[in-house]
Amino acid sequence: MKKGKKKKKLNKKKIIIISSFITIFIILLLLLFFFMPIVVFKKDIVVEVNSHVKTNYFVSNIFLGKIEDKEIYAETVGQGKANIQVKSLFGRVKNYQVTYTVKDTKGPDIESKDTLEIEINSTDDVLKNIKITDNSKLDIESKIEGDYKINELGDYKIKVIAKDKYNNKSSKDIVLKIIDTTKPQIEASSEITINVGTKIDLLKNVKVTDNSKENIKPSVQGKYDINKTGNYKLKYYAKDKSGNEATKDFTLKVIKKNQDIKETVNKTIKTSKGYTLIIKNGVASIDGVIIANKTYSLPSTYGNGLTSTTSSAFKKMQTAAKNDGLSIYISSGFRSYQTQVAVYNSWVQKDGKSVADTYSARPGYSEHQTGLAMDLNTINQSFANTKEYKWLQENAYKYGFIMRYPKNKQNITGYIYEPWHYRYVGESLAKTLYNNGNWITIEEHFGIDSKYQ
Ligand SMILES: [Zn+2]
Repeated sequence: MKKGKKKKKLNKKKIIIISSFITIFIILLLLLFFFMPIVVFKKDIVVEVNSHVKTNYFVSNIFLGKIEDKEIYAETVGQGKANIQVKSLFGRVKNYQVTYTVKDTKGPDIESKDTLEIEINSTDDVLKNIKITDNSKLDIESKIEGDYKINELGDYKIKVIAKDKYNNKSSKDIVLKIIDTTKPQIEASSEITINVGTKIDLLKNVKVTDNSKENIKPSVQGKYDINKTGNYKLKYYAKDKSGNEATKDFTLKVIKKNQDIKETVNKTIKTSKGYTLIIKNGVASIDGVIIANKTYSLPSTYGNGLTSTTSSAFKKMQTAAKNDGLSIYISSGFRSYQTQVAVYNSWVQKDGKSVADTYSARPGYSEHQTGLAMDLNTINQSFANTKEYKWLQENAYKYGFIMRYPKNKQNITGYIYEPWHYRYVGESLAKTLYNNGNWITIEEHFGIDSKYQ
């Protein structure tokens, strides 16, 4: 009896222990399930601007959980906010928001070779050859320290200094090499004709220029005999200090005495826009377009009235204007050299030479002598207020005419705004120069000057 009672008591105790273990286990499981990991975030987080940062970077410690792996991109300087997801062991997710400061503490990046070669007398900014970037992507101040002479060959030690918007500085030492790899330019006649036995200085009208701006003396290569008729193929030769050589072919024509020398000078010039300007018998032209301005004059004997092409183009234009109810007429068309002498002198007497030069051409320099130019209707500024002027502005180019001296181009054409002066250049070029009403001048288009020597 005693023994059986004892056994029963023991069983009861066992059941209590087991069930309480089970209960504790269940509670623990429940606790774990609802439990979120303990996360300790870093304080005063600073991130460099324009950098990618992993979310792990924001956390200093985490217990019983995992940070979702993500990248934050700090685009601009200031305050940033990042959402960070934390996962518990049971996969429960909680979102935290972390604030951080984005700063720019790095100086700009200066990207350049250690030795930078620049052509002598280059007008390009040296800094243009150096790539400077900053992680803030904002403006950078940059400058060069150290002396160098852009007009003198040599090696110069310079320092490039750059500063970003947040005052972070960086610098780079560079050797600036001023070099000359450009060959000289030879400007000369491509054909010279002389009578047999005539002494001639073949270098007289040869102009050699070089980007080094040094004085280069050209020479003539090839054999010729001024006492023997014939066509001699010769070369002009020029060499600069750096050894860059240039040659230009020309022909010396030695002809029989008393035979007419028809083409005395036949010169070609490359314009700044790469066009070839030809001077033949004293008349300059580019691609067949005759040039008459303050740089390129005409021989006194040139011209005899409006060219037939100009006349017929004008008549067509006049008819079209008439159909629109407008009257356009020529007030001054062709003017010979002699006429221009009188015109110019009278203006000089009235306004003085320097003022007259702004609107009246010196003899030989007038476009009216080409037979391609004309002054229409009223020859004064008031013409700009008329319907006829407005019509010409919109339609003249269709007939091959351009407004030759537009507004605000005096420093280019050499002449004041002349609303009345039109010039025939042909329909295709006229359309280009019309430029939808924003006139381009002949000088700008071809890359030539208009200045009295
Ligand atoms: Zn005119």
